[in-house]
Amino acid sequence: MEKLLLKDCLPEVLEEMKAAFEQKEMPKLLKQLETLEITEVCECGDASCGSFYTDHLRRDNIEVEGIRTESGFLVEVYNGRIHYVEVMPSETGRSIREKITMCK
Ligand SMILES: [Zn+2]
Repeated sequence: MEKLLLKDCLPEVLEEMKAAFEQKEMPKLLKQLETLEITEVCECGDASCGSFYTDHLRRDNIEVEGIRTESGFLVEVYNGRIHYVEVMPSETGRSIREKITMCK
């Protein structure tokens, strides 16, 4: 199956994450953005939740580090890898969820 890349589907989210990583000087996370995959939308089922996974792990029982972006996304990092991007239920969240569904 084709990989769904963040840069192709949600370039505006990539730019926002890039700005946050640059500002906080996180080169190891910056390097991951070009090839970062969207593996799945959040399983909560809320149509206005725009959260998505970028790997195949599930969040239960894992300790993550959170990095907040300018407009309030929370990028969760596990073991040095970007794991999940939390976009709380909102109009932005709804639009992100719709875009991911259309990209798939
Ligand atoms: Zn959700």
